[in-house]
Amino acid sequence: MNVRTRQGKIERLKKHSKKSVVIIGGGINGIGLFRELSLQGVDVLLVEQSDYCSAASSAPSRMIHGGLRYMENGEFALVKESLHERNLLLNNARHYVFPLPTTIPIFSWVDGVLATTLKFFGLNEKPSKRGALIIKLGLSFYDFFTRGRTTMPKHRFHSKKETFKKWSFFNKNAVCSATYYDAWISFPERLGMELVTDAEEASDSAIALNYARLLRSDGQKLVIKDTLTEEEICIEPDLVVNATGAWIDNTNRNFDKSTDFIGGTKGSHLIVRNDDLYRATGDGMVYFENAEGRVCILFPYMGNVLVGSTDLPVSSPDGVHCTPEEEHYILESLKYIFPAIEITPEQVLYRFSGVRPLPSSNTSTTGQISRNHSCQVLPADHDRTFPIFSLVGGKWTTFRAFGEQVADRTLSELGLSRTTSTENIAIGGGKGFPETVFERKQWLKKISEQCRCSEQRAEALLARYGTHALHLADYLADKSNQPLDSHQDYSTGEIRFLIEKEQVECLTDLILRRTSLAISGDLNLDIIRELNGQMADIKQWNHEQQEVEFGNALSYLEQYHGVDYKTLSERSLKFSSCVTDKVSTPDLVETFVH
Ligand SMILES: Cc1cc2nc3c(=O)[nH]c(=O)nc-3n(C[C@H](O)[C@H](O)[C@H](O)COP(=O)(O)OP(=O)(O)OC[C@H]3O[C@@H](n4cnc5c(N)ncnc54)[C@H](O)[C@@H]3O)c2cc1C
Repeated sequence: MNVRTRQGKIERLKKHSKKSVVIIGGGINGIGLFRELSLQGVDVLLVEQSDYCSAASSAPSRMIHGGLRYMENGEFALVKESLHERNLLLNNARHYVFPLPTTIPIFSWVDGVLATTLKFFGLNEKPSKRGALIIKLGLSFYDFFTRGRTTMPKHRFHSKKETFKKWSFFNKNAVCSATYYDAWISFPERLGMELVTDAEEASDSAIALNYARLLRSDGQKLVIKDTLTEEEICIEPDLVVNATGAWIDNTNRNFDKSTDFIGGTKGSHLIVRNDDLYRATGDGMVYFENAEGRVCILFPYMGNVLVGSTDLPVSSPDGVHCTPEEEHYILESLKYIFPAIEITPEQVLYRFSGVRPLPSSNTSTTGQISRNHSCQVLPADHDRTFPIFSLVGGKWTTFRAFGEQVADRTLSELGLSRTTSTENIAIGGGKGFPETVFERKQWLKKISEQCRCSEQRAEALLARYGTHALHLADYLADKSNQPLDSHQDYSTGEIRFLIEKEQVECLTDLILRRTSLAISGDLNLDIIRELNGQMADIKQWNHEQQEVEFGNALSYLEQYHGVDYKTLSERSLKFSSCVTDKVSTPDLVETFVH
C-alpha cells in the first residue's frame, strides 16, 4: 500500500499510534505549525475535520498586510512583525502574493486627531473619522518600519485634482487621497494546500489528514474519526496543539477543560461584477471609511471586485454565512464612497464569511479587539498525560511567525532544538519562481512546450500553480487531456491532477478551494456536473454517491455562498451560448514583475 495515500496514512497511524505532536485544526495556523515541525523532523500529525483552509482561513480579505489600523490600538509590535512577514511572503510565495497599491480617499485635513489620540490611550473605543494629518502619521510609521528594505515604494499624497483624475468615482467631498503599498494573496486556500504538501514531502513522519475530526479524549489517548468512513483511530500524543480557531473553547471541552480564550467576530465579503466599480478601484485597493468611520476595502479580483467586510460578535462559529443585512451594510458602505455607482442584486455573484479567532475581550467595539496572536498553555496534570497549546488569534499574514514561535515552544517542551529556519524557504510553486520579465518569458515558453498549450494558457497555469505548473506538465505527458466541455479555462488532465495529488475528497474541495471556479463567479451547473463526473470516475463512486455529492455541493453553495440552483442554471445557459476563452489569471500582477 502506498503510504502517502489517505488509506496508507490511516493504516500507518493504526500500526503506530504514538505521535510526538498532534495538531487539531487544519486552518492556516495549524498548517503553519505543521510545516514548522515537519521541517524540524518532529513526528507530527495534523487532523482537520473538514477540508484544509475551509473555515476562517478561506474567508480573509486576502490582504497580506501590516495592519495600518492596528496602530491606533497601539499594536506597533504586531504591525512591525506583520510588515516583516508580508515582505517574506512577497519573496517566498511569489506566485500568489503580490504588491498592492492601496489608496485612501481623505475627507478632511485634521479630523480624528483627538479621537485617535484618545483611542491610542484606550480612552475612546468608537470608530471615528481620520483626516489627512492622522493618515500621514500612520503612513509615515508604516514606511519607517520597512526602512532599509526596498521591497515597495513609500506612501504618496495626491492633491484633490490628481485624486479625481484617477479615481473619478470618489465621493466629491474628498479633499485629497494617499497611496501606500501593502500586498494581497490570490489563492490563500491553494497556498495552505501547498504548505501541507511541502510539509508531508519534507518528512516521512509528518502526516496530514483532512476529514478527520477529534471526537474525544480519555486524557491519554485521542479518538479521531475519519468522517468519510466513520472509522475511529486512537492516537497517543506527547503534546496536543489546539489550532481549531473559533472552535478552540469547544475543542478544549473534549479534554474536560472549560476555557474562555476566544471572542470571535464574524466577517463577510461580496464578489461583485460591475464595470464601473471595477474601474473605480483605479487598479488597486481602495481602503475607505464608511459613514460610521469603520474601515472597508475593495479591490479587483479575478475580473470582479472583492468588497468587505463586516465585523460582528458571534456566539457560535457554526454555520456562519453572509446575511442579507450584512450584504446591505456592505453595499451601503460602497454607496457612501462611490455615490454614482449603482449595484444591482444580480451583480453580487458570491458571498463568503468566516469567524476571526480573536481573543476574548471586553472592549465595547469589535474593532478594538487585539489582532495579535498568543499560545495559551494548559499543562499536563494528573488527569491528562499531555499539555495542550491553544493557538489564539493570528492572521494569514503572520502565520509563519506564529508557527515559528509555537514550534520553538513545542521543541523546548519535547527537549528538541530547531534545525531549520523557515524565514527564507519558498513555498510550493513559489520555489524558483521567475523574478524578471526575461525569466518569466523563459518559463512560459517551457510550460507551453511541455504542456503543448498556448502562451495564454501557460500564463494561467503559472499564475495558478507557480513553478509546479511543470509538475502538471510531467503528469500530463502520457495522459489524455482536453479543455473541460463546460469551462475551457481548465482541462480534464488538470482536474485529474488536482484530485489525485491534492487530497481532494469531496466535490466542494475541488470547486471551492483547489480551483477558483466558485469565487471567480464563473461556476455554473454544467461545470459542477462535469467535475462531479470526473470525481466519480477517479473515486469510483456509484450513481447514488455521485447524486449525494452533487446535492451536497449545491446546498453548500446556497447556504454558505448565497449561490442557488436557479442562479447556477441561468449561468449555464448564459455561458453555453458564448463558450468562454477567458483565462482567469489574477488581476494586479503587473506590479510584481521587475
Ligand atoms: C472576515 C475575515 C477577514 C480576514 N482578513 C484577513 C486579511 O485580509 N489578512 C490576514 O492576514 N488575515 C485575515 N483574516 C484572519 C485570518 O484569516 C484568520 O485569523 C486565520 O485564517 C485563522 O486561522 P486558524 O487556523 O486559526 O482558524 P481556521 O481557519 O478557522 O481553522 C480552524 C480549523 O479547525 C477545524 N476544527 C474545528 N474543530 C475541530 C475538531 N474537533 N477536529 C478537527 N478539526 C477541527 C475547523 O474545521 C477549521 O478548519 C481574516 C479573517 C476573517 C474571518
